[in-house]
Amino acid sequence: MTLHAPYDSDNIFAKILRGELPNVTVYEDDVALAFMDVFPQTSGHTLVIPKGVEARNFLDMPPERLGDYMERVQKVANAVERALSPDGIVVTQFNGAIAGQTVFHLHFHILPRNEGISQKAHASGEMADIAELESIANKIRQAIR
Ligand code: AMP
Repeated sequence: MTLHAPYDSDNIFAKILRGELPNVTVYEDDVALAFMDVFPQTSGHTLVIPKGVEARNFLDMPPERLGDYMERVQKVANAVERALSPDGIVVTQFNGAIAGQTVFHLHFHILPRNEGISQKAHASGEMADIAELESIANKIRQAIR
């Protein structure tokens, strides 16, 4: 997939936003939905996606919508920090397949990092245990402010 292409409304995250696919929700309002990554690179790997906009990537996002969305990314990152007390947090985002993007609806990754625990490969490996994701999500939900 190239960096510039029409928005595909059948992408996985669009389906999640329409309620056609399940997700383990951490936070939701009229601006953004945050949910657990089902192929987590670290424990607590969370995704934040914008609602009500057809943006494939960061470059596509209407600038006037960016501020509210980034406020939600920070809100969720702060909740992850409060809930899981990691040693560090990676907040990252990929644009275009060559850059590592595999789902073409804008999203930021929030990856808690801990000393001595390496990060797994991106968008690969075994699907996480959903009950375990629910347990982590519950902690993050309670830490949202
Ligand atoms: P990216 O490769 O940056 O586009 O990130 C897409 C992310 O979505 C990857 O980290 C995948 O593990 C994750 N992912 C793919 N399908 C799902 C899904 N159904 N629910 C939650 N996360 C997903």
